[in-house]
Amino acid sequence: MISPVLDTLNRPIHDLRVSVTDRCNLRCAYCMPAEVYPEDFAFQPKEALLSFEEIARFTAIAADLGVSKVRLTGGEPLLRRGLDRLVGMLVAIPGIEDLALTTNGLLLPRFAQALKDAGLHRITVSLDSLDPEVLRRMSGRAIDPGEILEGIAAAAAAGFKTIKVNTVVQRGVNDGGIVDLARYFRGTGIALRFIEYMDVGTMNHWKRGEVVPAREIVERIGAHFPLEAQAPNYRGEVANRFRYMDGQGEIGVIASVTQPFCGACSRLRLTCDGQLFTCLFASTGMDVRSDLRGGEEDVALRERVRALWTRRSDRYSEERACVQSARRGKVEMYHIGG
Ligand code: SF4
Repeated sequence: MISPVLDTLNRPIHDLRVSVTDRCNLRCAYCMPAEVYPEDFAFQPKEALLSFEEIARFTAIAADLGVSKVRLTGGEPLLRRGLDRLVGMLVAIPGIEDLALTTNGLLLPRFAQALKDAGLHRITVSLDSLDPEVLRRMSGRAIDPGEILEGIAAAAAAGFKTIKVNTVVQRGVNDGGIVDLARYFRGTGIALRFIEYMDVGTMNHWKRGEVVPAREIVERIGAHFPLEAQAPNYRGEVANRFRYMDGQGEIGVIASVTQPFCGACSRLRLTCDGQLFTCLFASTGMDVRSDLRGGEEDVALRERVRALWTRRSDRYSEERACVQSARRGKVEMYHIGG
């Protein structure tokens, strides 16, 4: 059993989030607003993206340092061709016990079975509203909630037992629909996760007043369906869990703004072009692509990553109030993959 490397706040390296592409088939206003990222926006060229072999090599190095959980993200990861091949490579790495994917669900009807067959363990689908008009406004695309629900159904039909739905809640935009979402997913075995609206990147013109605090989300839903707080499944779990007292399942709230959880944050992030970030709100990353392509030995790269994590002291969400205005040029959400 590897003892994970610890950072300056004694947080073990445990999770690796891998963005496999910066492209997306949606234009969510809080991540990749359409007015900034038009259809013909010049995303990273193919040769700039880490190959599956490079991602697998890096993941094996991270596993040697203590990483056991990997999440594939984007942009929209299902836009990366042959993703099931990468899944097969990652689940075969010793030490990688949990492999998950975050997707907007639109392409799941085409790929869910292949991902399942390749060994993917869990799927999280982003769905911000069941109201077609609200979803169109938030996603910047003429999509219908039914298309995403079809994706969720395809994941269930493919045999995924653990399916979660993530909803970013923005006051005055989609908060009027959180009880409808709770009502829709109650009793389905699909865990709904409500995410406090965050100041990720530099594009979403974030306002504190548009944050609906986790406490308020729980109160609103609890007024219809009584809830009871649950203990976390493990240290570092980001969601605060609440079960329906009538046994119809559970919800979670990810309260990065009002109840920051930096103290147990064990996440390392790898972008699709080989930059390593130690915090979602960081401005600069460490390049590992040139190492992976430049003939660098694994042991040398591993020591560089160990040194990066060992000197890590990020806790942006805890410091937000006093650092937010000073923090310039934060990495964009679609680039770091959330
Ligand atoms: S703000 Fe940074 S350190 Fe804090 S939980 Fe998020 S990613 Fe981790």
